[in-house]
Amino acid sequence: MEDFHYVAYAQEVIFGPGSVGRLGETVERLGAQRIMLCTSRSLRAGGYVATMESILGSRLVAIFDEVLPHVQDVQAEEASAFAEGKQIDAVIGLGGGSPLGMAKAVAYELEKRARPLPHPSTLASQPLVPVVAIPTTYAGSEMTAVFGITHTREKPPRKITVSDAKIVPKIVLYDPNLTLDLPPALTASTGINALAHCIEALYSRTRHPLSTAAAVSAVRHIAEALPVCYAQGSDLDARTQMLIGAHLAGRSLADVTMGLHHGLCHVLGGTANVPHGIANSIILPHAMRFNAEMTAQQLLPAAEALGVRVEELSPVAAVEAAAQKVFDLVGQMKLPQHLRDVGVREADLSEFAQMAFRNRTVHNNPRPVTDAGEIERLLRAAW
Ligand code: NAD
Repeated sequence: MEDFHYVAYAQEVIFGPGSVGRLGETVERLGAQRIMLCTSRSLRAGGYVATMESILGSRLVAIFDEVLPHVQDVQAEEASAFAEGKQIDAVIGLGGGSPLGMAKAVAYELEKRARPLPHPSTLASQPLVPVVAIPTTYAGSEMTAVFGITHTREKPPRKITVSDAKIVPKIVLYDPNLTLDLPPALTASTGINALAHCIEALYSRTRHPLSTAAAVSAVRHIAEALPVCYAQGSDLDARTQMLIGAHLAGRSLADVTMGLHHGLCHVLGGTANVPHGIANSIILPHAMRFNAEMTAQQLLPAAEALGVRVEELSPVAAVEAAAQKVFDLVGQMKLPQHLRDVGVREADLSEFAQMAFRNRTVHNNPRPVTDAGEIERLLRAAW
């Protein structure tokens, strides 16, 4: 695949232990005077909201600290109305992918209200309300111009994705100190989410040299650092390496299309309410096997980084061995390995397969998916 085409976004990325201390100077450069903070309860409990308050002072005019998983439409409407009332000029997402997604949803909604047409934009231009992202998990949303939102009024509820160049975080502050108290289960599941970004970027139909380079490097960082972070969360060196891996994984995903794996995770998250990292952990080995025949060459560097002796195996066998390594790693980190363990009912698998089949990402899967029955078979294997 020699031809490629992608849109890269202008972002300022600041990485390093203690970098959150640079938040004041960065919002100063943005010229922001009326800032909103989107975060979740456990981040307030951990004292991070107080840190934001002391850094931002009177510039922090709105705090929305109740963000629930999977960005629910009702909450996004509430947060956007709150933001509009406070006339904010920047929004900070602090936490995992959900608060970061909420910050993007608020920026998107305010943009849409102020400039109804043309919308959405694909090329970066000055956003009305810039997003600042401070991630505390490995989900990678800080590097993308996309957010997922769950339409809770539909029966069953349905998660969709929204893309717009204007919502890509203009400033990303990575501070590994903020991840030191991320509990082992969330370390593990959001770490596997980062690994999934690499796998889907490596075999993406729209991959390009930069996405591939970022993904391969990310897998190396994650394979080495994730088990250490899981076992010894306070190890700052391992946390730093893992956050670099998550950054590279997010970068690899930022400008390529995702496939079946992500489509399925959105159905499982939005409709069955499975936490995103857990859905990723269960589905990833199955998605790798499903795509192995068509994508073995692209996945070989990932297989090698995961410890597979690729020189001793055929490419397809190496990818299957890598899928088994991921499955084993998920088990070693005591995450659920089966959909039946997380409350998914066998009777719903057929409907979930139908929903996924209608999802755009499934049609971008490297192995063409021609009917919902193929997806149902994958789901049954994962159940
Ligand atoms: P999350 O944001 O829902 O957070 C999960 C839990 O982790 C929450 O209870 C939160 O309070 C807690 N938490 C976060 N940081 C913590 C810390 N440092 N210490 C203690 N607790 C902490 O979960 P997530 O897996 O980070 O993100 C998943 C969401 O992000 C999904 O909605 C998914 O669709 C989205 N996502 C989007 C992209 C994108 O590119 N737009 C990429 C990946 C994920």
